[in-house]
Amino acid sequence: MLSIVHRNIGWIEVICGSMFSGKSEELIRRLRRASIARQKVAVFKPRIDVRFSDDHIVSHSELKLASRVVENAWDILEQSLEAQVVGIDEAQFFDRDLLVVCQKLANMGKRVIVAGLDQDYRGEPFEPIPQLLAVAEYITKTHAICVVCGNPANYTQRKIQNTERVIVGASDIYEARCRNCFEPPEDVKTEVKLSGKGRRKKKERSG
Ligand SMILES: [Zn+2]
Repeated sequence: MLSIVHRNIGWIEVICGSMFSGKSEELIRRLRRASIARQKVAVFKPRIDVRFSDDHIVSHSELKLASRVVENAWDILEQSLEAQVVGIDEAQFFDRDLLVVCQKLANMGKRVIVAGLDQDYRGEPFEPIPQLLAVAEYITKTHAICVVCGNPANYTQRKIQNTERVIVGASDIYEARCRNCFEPPEDVKTEVKLSGKGRRKKKERSG
């Protein structure tokens, strides 16, 4: 995919999927390779994600890379003027300004690699990832393994009752599930039933 030689142009890569699908791990792998090639790399994560480590991005498998914590997307633009490669983790915690910032960085000739959750705990698209997917040159969808049945998992199941969109946590609060095993919250089930499509089929198949 990236073996094509790019000269003096920037682009956007998005790595997305459910929790525990290896997004941060893949981001770290790409950034490390760029560092080894002596490219100037700048790595960012939002203030909200302080799990494990304040100044590193960390995968669930404990890979780490030094990163800067920023308050908003514009801080990324300001702090990556020198960089050739810009990495952004937990991108779902930024607002839609991230889209503008990533476009600007790519237009400046930088390689921009963004990792984030593409769906929230309700199974709905998690902005600004869908918008980034639309403008990205390269997209990688990572899959976890469903903890219930072992199939590839595309959903993040929240194990506790809470309607806030963001609760930072790991395996104590979330687990990866496939389409069949994912149990959306009650309000989502009702919406799906009313529209007469989608997950109702699953219930018919399984019951
Ligand atoms: Zn499953």
